[in-house]
Amino acid sequence: MFGTKRRRLQREAFEQPFPEHWRPILSSNWPLWNSLTDEARERLEELTKVFVAERRWESARGFELTEPMKVLIAAQACLLILELDEDYFRHVSVIIVHPTTVVLQGPRASDISGMVSDGPQPILGQATDRGPVVLAWDAVAFDARHPARGQNVVFHEFAHKLDMLDGTVDGTPPMPDEATRQRWVKVCTREFKSVGDDGWDPVLRDYAATNPGEFFAVATEVFFTRPEALRDAKVDLYEVLANFYRQDPSSTATPG
Ligand SMILES: [Zn+2]
Repeated sequence: MFGTKRRRLQREAFEQPFPEHWRPILSSNWPLWNSLTDEARERLEELTKVFVAERRWESARGFELTEPMKVLIAAQACLLILELDEDYFRHVSVIIVHPTTVVLQGPRASDISGMVSDGPQPILGQATDRGPVVLAWDAVAFDARHPARGQNVVFHEFAHKLDMLDGTVDGTPPMPDEATRQRWVKVCTREFKSVGDDGWDPVLRDYAATNPGEFFAVATEVFFTRPEALRDAKVDLYEVLANFYRQDPSSTATPG
């Protein structure tokens, strides 16, 4: 999208109030929304309405992509940047929504640089550097309704977009200073290496052990969906994530 058009859409969206009928969409389909403070919800509404307006939305395979779907995707994505600058999503321009699992065919570079795979690969989502975010709607809707499972495809793919901001997918998004970056790398490297050490992990699913990029994306899912469990199991990891996102979701989490 050209800068001027994007700015115009952004300005227009800012000038409009948050549509009343969007609130029940979020409150009835996304339990996490209801656990936010009033202040956080207000800020998230601002981010969401701009996100819905200024991104290009595409549907695949004849899928009918509706406004409520866009709202639910946008609000979840924007939770990640609630306390960051909107600029963190500057490379998010297109969101492609499929009705269900997408099967990738043939040789391709995966969303993790350097990895090439072939053969059919079913995916629930995909993020590419400066490219679109692809999502399977059924997974988006299911994950939003069931945060206790600790999985969320929207958080996952948009975490990859944050990771990609510095041009490399290495599990380290841009950090404010070198000391913070070093602390991040030290904690995440240790935790990444220990995933699955005992044959299982109390909070992170096996996919986190794939590579550092997937580790960050999976850890982000758990940070926002099961913050208390993550804090109790891996306090250092919780702290570096809380420091990066500038949020402490365990303080507002509702039991269950
Ligand atoms: Zn991933």
